[in-house]
This record gives sequence, C-alpha cells and structure tokens, in this order.
Amino acid sequence: MNPVSAETNSTSETTNAHVAAGANAPLEKIALETYVPPAKPSLVGLSRAEIAEQLGAIGVAPAQRKMRVQQLWHWIYVRGAKSFEEMTSISKEMRAQLDQHLTVARPEVVAEQVSNDGTRKWLLRLPSGDSIEKAHEVECVYIPETDRGTLCVSSQVGCTLNCSFCHTGTQRLVRNLTAGEIVGQIMVARDRLNDWADRVTPTGSRLVTNVVMMGMGEPLYNFEAVRDALLIVSDNEGIGISRRRITLSTSGVVPNIIRTGDEIGVMLAISLHAVRDELRNELVPLNRKYPIAELLQACREYPGSSNARRITFEYVMLKDVNDSLEDAKLLVKMLKGIPAKINLIPFNPWPGTRYECSDWDQIEKFSEYIFNAGYSSPVRTPRGRDILAACGQLKSETEKLSVRERQALRAMAMTD
Ligand code: SAH
Ligand code: SF4
Repeated sequence: MNPVSAETNSTSETTNAHVAAGANAPLEKIALETYVPPAKPSLVGLSRAEIAEQLGAIGVAPAQRKMRVQQLWHWIYVRGAKSFEEMTSISKEMRAQLDQHLTVARPEVVAEQVSNDGTRKWLLRLPSGDSIEKAHEVECVYIPETDRGTLCVSSQVGCTLNCSFCHTGTQRLVRNLTAGEIVGQIMVARDRLNDWADRVTPTGSRLVTNVVMMGMGEPLYNFEAVRDALLIVSDNEGIGISRRRITLSTSGVVPNIIRTGDEIGVMLAISLHAVRDELRNELVPLNRKYPIAELLQACREYPGSSNARRITFEYVMLKDVNDSLEDAKLLVKMLKGIPAKINLIPFNPWPGTRYECSDWDQIEKFSEYIFNAGYSSPVRTPRGRDILAACGQLKSETEKLSVRERQALRAMAMTD
C-alpha cells in the first residue's frame, strides 16, 4: 500500500479515536520524510556558508566567494530578487552561470484571499517528494494593524502532536518544512505586498514587521530548520526583523525551549491551556512526556527573559473545561516568579470537535481576575481585553476566517 492510501484510509478512524479518547490518544504521530529537493536547488533558506558551498560546487573561485555571497544575500533578502537576472551588480557571465545551476525560488502561491479588514491569507504549495502523493499545502496569514503587520508562519505540514482542541492535530499527513520553505513564507508575503526594501509602501515603512510561528505544526519538533530560518529572518543585513518581533509558540517541547533562547533568541510563547496535569494531559497530550512543573522550570530558565521580554502563556478558553475562576487563580499562582503575560484565546470550533468556546462573560471574568493580578500590558488598555475584542469582532464580521487566521489575529496583539 502506498503512503497515500494509508493516509486516506486511516484519517477518519484516527480523527474519531482522537476526539473520543482524549488523554489516551497517542502522544504523537510519525513524521514522513518525503521531501525531495528540486533538481536546481534554491538559495533561499541557506546560510552564508551553505551558499558559499553551492558557489564552490559550480566552480566559483574561493577568493570570490565571500563577495558573491554578500551580493547574493543583499539581492535575495533586501531587494527580494526573484531571479539572478535582476542582480545587476553581478556580472552577466556570473548571473548566467548561477542561473544554470541554482534558483532563488520560494514556495508557489496557489491562492490568495483578502478579507475586508486587510487580512490576507496565502495558500502555498510545496513539493511532496514523489509523483504519487499530492502536493503538500500550508497557509500563511498576514494581519495588518496601525502600528505593525504580523505574519503567521507554519513550521510543518500538519503536526505530529494531537492536542484535542486543535484542528491541525487531526491532520494525518505530516512533514517538516525546510528552512527555505519557512523563510519562503516571509518572502512570499513581501512579494505579494510589494514590501521589499527598495519599494515604496503605503506607510513608508515595511508592512511585515512581526513574525509569529503559530501556523501549522510544532516548531520545536522541527528545531534546526526553524532555527536556521529565523536566523535568516532576523539577520540585520537581510530581511532584518528583530528577534524581539519574532515569537515562537510551543506546546511544550521542554528540551528545546532552552535551545530556543540560546540558539535563536526569539520571544517565547507557551501553549499552556490548563493548570493541572490531569487536564493538560488530555488537552495537550505532550504533557504526559513533559508535565507542567518541568515546563515552567524551563520557562524560569529561559535565556534572556525579563520584565521587558516576557514569556507569553497562551490559554484557550474552553467552556466548562478550563475556564473557572479556580483555574484563573491557580494560573496566576503558578506563574509567580516568571516574567509572563497571558494571552486568552477564545476557542475556535471546528467540525467534529467536542469543545465549545467559553461564554463571553466567563471570558471577561477570567480576564478580569488575571488583569487585577497584574497580568496585562503596561498601557491603560488591558492587552488581554484588546485581544478578546479583536476576536469578538472577527467572529461577527468575518465568519469565514480559518483557525490560523484567528490565531494570527489574536497573536498580533501579543508581540511588541
Ligand atoms: N504548535 C504550536 C504552534 C501552533 S498553534 C503550539 O501548539 O503552540 C498556535 C496556537 O493556537 C497554540 O496556542 C494553540 O494551542 C492554539 N490553538 C490551536 N487550536 C485552536 C483552536 N481551535 N482555537 C483556539 N486556539 C487554538
Ligand atoms: Fe500541534 Fe500546536 Fe495543534 Fe497541538 S496546538 S496539535 S502542538 S499545532
């Protein structure tokens, strides 16, 4: 049986089991490794050293490589060049030589949706690696606001984890994105928004100012690719989005949390969602491997966190499951000593889910308790409430927005 029919046959079965079994659901699925690089590799997503290697392989003299890498880096990540032809500071012969062996390709955009409020969603097609299996797809969402524009980026096709309230978790097909496919999402957004450094934007500044790793997938189960991609995204001589404007959200892959601080240095968000292990085992089954106490200890030790660089704790509001005032109290208590902010997320229902979103007044009560305990933005308007307001508006005005759009809309309020 080929992998495709195996996928198709098991989907509904797994989904039902997953919905019914809760805490007994399998901890995780196995990721497929079906990515086969295209014949002509793209330079997008490669480090400077890897680009130099590629240049060596096509016969560029060692003495020239450093300078060529610098030129290419500038054209790719500052100017957003889509072909070597555009790179006019490089000799014609060299451009032809590059073009013969390499590309600066990014993921293919197969659909673009623009909502009334300016939110844009792109559906990207990625190679599956063989001719039998259909192409893989991921989404990437851009949310403009007056003072920033946030891009919600995916790290995997699907997710190996099975959080019981998450739609992505029910998707069987999983593969890690490459660093190029992750960087490529930011490049696609800049292409579509005409947002490269030498182009005039309506506001005079860049449109994509913030990145949140909150699309599909668990970024810390694709650590190396996510790290390599985010180092490129934050590189000052390229895309140049500051690490403080990049947030990585994890369901709690404890061993890679400290590494995230040490090796990437971006802002951290933790999908907490429950204050007791018993419930968290059910909502986020990974908790059985890395329970709350271990997770919070990793947060206490997170390199670079401070009152100015707080860790965000995400908490999805599930009616009669985790939304009591007792939960709110315990939440505040357990976060003591951690520079934290709390991001309440109204649950976004999907077909077949057994959960409901908490009632609005319950969300307000919960939020008020947290606010009174000091967990809010330093400005007068409480940040938590801003987020709830945004989500409320979203619900009434744009019913069609997907899970990830909503996630991204909420996420924009949590990045500084
Ligand atoms: N895998 C990572 C990042 C992607 S999910 C993680 O779990 O953190 C981004 C956020 O959306 C997480 O906090 C996740 O718990 C939340 N989320 C998932 N499904 C949701 C839903 N149906 N409604 C609201 N939030 C959801
Ligand atoms: Fe994966 Fe995050 Fe969804 Fe859990 S919430 S299944 S970790 S994408």
